[in-house]
Amino acid sequence: MIVGVPREIYPGERRVALVPAAVPGLAKAGIEVVVEAGAGEAAGYPDDAFRAKGARVLAGRGEVFGAADVVVQVLCHGANDRNGDADLPLLREGQALIGFLRPFGSLGAVEAIAARGVASFSVELMPRITRAQSMDALSSMASIAGYKAVLLAADSLPRFFPMLTTAAGTITPARLLVIGAGVAGLQAIATSRRLGAVTSAYDLRPAAKEQVQSLGARFVELPVEVKDAEDARGYAKAQDEEFYRRQRELLGRVVAESDVVVTTAVVPGKKAPVLVTGEMVAAMAPGSVIVDLAAERGGNCELTRPGEVAQAHGVTIIGLFNLAGTVPYHASQMYARNLSTFLLHLVKEGSLRIDPGDEITRDTLLTRGGEIVQPRVREFFS
Ligand code: NAD
Repeated sequence: MIVGVPREIYPGERRVALVPAAVPGLAKAGIEVVVEAGAGEAAGYPDDAFRAKGARVLAGRGEVFGAADVVVQVLCHGANDRNGDADLPLLREGQALIGFLRPFGSLGAVEAIAARGVASFSVELMPRITRAQSMDALSSMASIAGYKAVLLAADSLPRFFPMLTTAAGTITPARLLVIGAGVAGLQAIATSRRLGAVTSAYDLRPAAKEQVQSLGARFVELPVEVKDAEDARGYAKAQDEEFYRRQRELLGRVVAESDVVVTTAVVPGKKAPVLVTGEMVAAMAPGSVIVDLAAERGGNCELTRPGEVAQAHGVTIIGLFNLAGTVPYHASQMYARNLSTFLLHLVKEGSLRIDPGDEITRDTLLTRGGEIVQPRVREFFS
């Protein structure tokens, strides 16, 4: 069986779906890897490094798609809404496609993939079960985004993060607040602590409290009743508007006292809730920084400009997309580990077996035989 790794074509994308270190493990399971020339270059993995581990490097993109039984990408059509459609004619019936497909993004994009007749697997739909943890690309990328969010904040903040006692006086530490202590939020907390900021965090899921405290941060308790905080998959459930209104009211004071706010709060399949209003931004000290990791989903801050860095009331609001892609070496290494574990799970005796009885296969399989087969996605668009 042949797995093909095309170069990523989304403008500015530097990650690659597999790295050389993943090749020998796949070879042991009878999987050959073919890579488009230059695919790993921007992430720090030159063609020779792939060759040295036994991969075949092919010059043409068409050749890679042509040779592959399974195509693996970071951003497939759907997740790549800029030029991902250029790959559609290269896909063929009977082939499999694995990557980020943004299954709840656009029906047109999912239908276009289905129409190619490929069996596509969306890594966003990986079930949150212990068995699938090592295949969970969303978590890998969220963790990198959380780390990078704090570095961006530190870079923009006109203050130090740590407390310093110097001959020129004592510097008080920065105060950083994380709203949404999931995978990205927890990594933001850990990074902020390493840089010496006084760190606190809030999440509506009660389970987050212990995790926040175990990282040495203060958990912010808000006297507001949460109804049914999380679903069976561990994701936060959407709350009613009255809850969000009360939450904003109570968060206002904590936000005003923070030099940096990192927001990560999302609810699957929904626009991100607005947790930081323009009024709350105006109450922050000039020079403060907000990093809105929910920007791609509309943003947790009312003044976020998705995809941009904005200034409002003297506060810098960073709403940049794809922070994981800005750490391409390790993002690719982690993604490659997630994908190769997933591939080894799907491949039996050297070929891809689609077993509808298997939870991981069933949840991630988006299209097959010309149809959208994922029940949650079908329901979402119906
Ligand atoms: P996510 O990216 O969907 O959301 C980020 C965080 O925002 C979550 O913690 C969520 O509770 C929070 N949030 C949503 N609305 C909010 C609001 N109004 N106010 C405050 N916070 C709000 O979530 P995630 O980071 O992917 O992870 C959520 C949970 O799932 C975590 O506990 C994580 O450890 C768990 N998880 C488990 C597995 C697994 O078992 N395989 C894999 C990944 C994540």
